[in-house]
Amino acid sequence: MRYRNFRRSDGQTLAAHDGSVWKDLGDTSLVALIKEGRISDRSLVDSAPELDMTGLRLLPPVSVPGKVICVGLNYVDHAKESPYEGIPKYPAFFPRFSSSLIADGDPIIRPFISEELDFEGELAVIIGKPGRHIAEKDALDHVAGYSVFNDASIRNYQFLGVQWTPGKNFDDTGAFGPEFVSADEVPAGAKGLKLETRLNGKVVQSANTDDMIFPVDRLIALASTFTTLQVGDVIVAGTPAGVGFARKPPLFMKDGDVVEVEIEKIGTLTNPVRDEIKASKRALAP
Ligand code: MG
Repeated sequence: MRYRNFRRSDGQTLAAHDGSVWKDLGDTSLVALIKEGRISDRSLVDSAPELDMTGLRLLPPVSVPGKVICVGLNYVDHAKESPYEGIPKYPAFFPRFSSSLIADGDPIIRPFISEELDFEGELAVIIGKPGRHIAEKDALDHVAGYSVFNDASIRNYQFLGVQWTPGKNFDDTGAFGPEFVSADEVPAGAKGLKLETRLNGKVVQSANTDDMIFPVDRLIALASTFTTLQVGDVIVAGTPAGVGFARKPPLFMKDGDVVEVEIEKIGTLTNPVRDEIKASKRALAP
């Protein structure tokens, strides 16, 4: 099943697609439904009214995840284009704060202190069962479903220090959505899916999830050795080759651009790009 999460003036609304229209499940949340074991329960959707889009604004599929664990250098070609030696023997895990997340359609904001805003199309894995020290053979039982992520990065801040947290956590840079797709809708571990990033309609990244160095089950096993994974936590599984900073000349995103990340069977995440100063002026306009 496919879900979208909306904000309305008096709270949130979860919507599910019944195959032809979006249905209104009310003020429940995806995390609540996962915990109740009902994300693939058709009866819930069949009995719900059709969604009235009036006054609704799309949110990320999980609006405030407890943890967003990102993975760097998880595709061989991307590892080779990055300023590091060899292929990683252990995932380059780093955190993303929930406060950096935005929805499909929201502008990715280029901060006025940098001209190095880069795209990173990625698979997002949403955890459906808590666990610590999860064995790789059991790991996919802990996946509720998948979504699409653009791990937009401020490159000069990413490489200012010895780790990447600042450059990966600017406000309004973690695009996530538009929808959550339950794990039963895609191949196990989301394997074999085409991933493509387009900037202003031009393909800039094209890969397959099969190309990941550490696949979804391995990432879950390795992440759960140091932290308890909780329902609604998100693992962002890394980006393939083609990012802007590795190009000659570099290709960074700027005000007026539109960036799309499409993953086969999961969806297409589309975001405009805006400069911080211009966005602020717009917000102040009547
Ligand atoms: Mg990334």
